[in-house]
Amino acid sequence: MTIGIDIDDTITDSSSLFVKLAKKYNKDKKINYNIDLTEWDQEKAFGWSIDNQKEFKLLYLSSIFMSAKPKRRVAKIIHKLKEEGHEIIIISSRSKNVEDITLNWLHKNKIEYDKIILGSTNKSQDVLKNKVDVFIDDNWEVVNQISKERKIPVFLFKANYNMKYNDSKVEKVASWEDIYFEIKNIEEDK
Ligand SMILES: [Mg+2]
Repeated sequence: MTIGIDIDDTITDSSSLFVKLAKKYNKDKKINYNIDLTEWDQEKAFGWSIDNQKEFKLLYLSSIFMSAKPKRRVAKIIHKLKEEGHEIIIISSRSKNVEDITLNWLHKNKIEYDKIILGSTNKSQDVLKNKVDVFIDDNWEVVNQISKERKIPVFLFKANYNMKYNDSKVEKVASWEDIYFEIKNIEEDK
């Protein structure tokens, strides 16, 4: 199978560092806002205007991309999936400006892949173009769109900000062990 995988908060654990820096940013900028980590939207989550969002990105995004930790066991399980003959395609909306940082991080953390697409503005299109059979992401909108348009199995990597969304066609996973188990199930059903 061809397995499509998002990067941020699917392969990486970016959000814990993101939240830490967001708190620092709000303190520095004297933004008094009750942070709500169940929200995906940054205005609702952190009280940020579009300008705040841009400024935060400029200040901290590359360091988050450089220093984020990988999700538990992600490298081992992707390695195992590749050994079993699956193809791994990473599809991310990260811009091409951070290509070097991203490729270095993946190398340093021993994440194997066959292809990487950065700057994706429509993951559902990229899934179609690359004949992806199953897709994994922490972004509810993305997995829901892919599930509806491509009719393929999708996994939502659980996080505080995507808890409230549900659809019978969207499988929620909490770990890479879960993902491995689900992929085995799909193979058995074929
Ligand atoms: Mg993500």
